[in-house]
Amino acid sequence: MTAPRIVPPATIGMLGGGQLGRYALVAARLMGYRTMVLEPDPNAPAGRVADVHLVAEYDNPEALRRLGDECEVVTTEFENPPAAALDALARRTLVAPSPAAVAVAQDRIAEKTFLADAGLPVGPWAVVDHADADPAVEYPAIIKTARLGYDGKGQRRVDDPSAMRAAWRLLGGVPCVVEQALDLETEVSAVVARRADGGFAAYPIAENRHVDGILDLSVVPARVPARLADRAVGLAMTIADALDYVGVLAVEFFVVGGELLVNEMAPRPHNSGHWTLDVAQTSQFEQQIRAVCGLELGDTGTTRPAAAMVNLLGDLWEPDTPEWADAVTATSALHLYGKSAARPGRKMGHLTAWGATVAEAEVRALDARRALSSG
Ligand code: ADP
Ligand code: MG
Repeated sequence: MTAPRIVPPATIGMLGGGQLGRYALVAARLMGYRTMVLEPDPNAPAGRVADVHLVAEYDNPEALRRLGDECEVVTTEFENPPAAALDALARRTLVAPSPAAVAVAQDRIAEKTFLADAGLPVGPWAVVDHADADPAVEYPAIIKTARLGYDGKGQRRVDDPSAMRAAWRLLGGVPCVVEQALDLETEVSAVVARRADGGFAAYPIAENRHVDGILDLSVVPARVPARLADRAVGLAMTIADALDYVGVLAVEFFVVGGELLVNEMAPRPHNSGHWTLDVAQTSQFEQQIRAVCGLELGDTGTTRPAAAMVNLLGDLWEPDTPEWADAVTATSALHLYGKSAARPGRKMGHLTAWGATVAEAEVRALDARRALSSG
């Protein structure tokens, strides 16, 4: 298939107004595109940087009509855009990634079924969708809502079968998956980009540490054998091809017993790719714009030997707003998303540091964040 090439000053649309949308629209504007975002929160991070902010619900027919009619391409930036909204947009304009690809990634049952059918490695799992479900997994296990979970929300640990019913009820009695709680050696993620014509590019694999289900630290390059890093990229490419994916795709992996298991995928740029803003030749956000516009993909090489990114959660605002200047050094960069309310666990910004080695970059990133919390 020949990819349509969408060039400035065409209008690019974004469904969703979070930080991922903010960076993608900044990248688009730097290239000379006009930008439009549909997002109900008038203060959302992406709204402030878009040429036009349609302040309406994601399924508002009038707003969807305008977004679809004025934009050459519409993309998304959050996990759960309503399927009906994407379908409505797809009847009017190009939507990338496709509604079908997003649908697979936003439902854990569809996602795991797709992965298993494609022969990709996943950990033991089962569906739980009624009170007496007795899933064939080993315990302890983790039950997760099939839809709408993020940053560890919508998950509970279940220590034995007798606790399953209560856990499922506490999650609202909605369709869930249950997974064996695995003994993780580490976690890694692949951030890749694919164009409609199959053109493909991959960033170096990131190694990720989560705290309470929320990404805390990503370092690049991941401290895993080259064989594993290559395999992670290969698996991400297999997934992208199977979904006929267009845009940036992130695939999260568990490393268990020296091998990779696919955890989940995100149909968009990813928190573990934020380091690319400061330490890659092309950021994941510019890459997203290039991919959905059918332009040549950018160089995914690093500009420094190693990078480390730490998230800044709302907890840092206690008791007071941090002293930001302390986190800006010659070898670290501060990013704040401009969110109005700092709640514990909410992603408010991040810091990226770089250095000659992963160890050096990591120490710098952690030191910069510590300077903030002790401020
Ligand atoms: P989210 O959509 O919130 O990112 P994930 O399924 O990726 O949900 O879970 C968040 C984190 O919780 C993972 O990155 C991992 O650290 C931990 N986790 C999730 N599932 C498992 C599991 N089956 N075994 C061990 N740890 C897990
Ligand atoms: Mg995850």
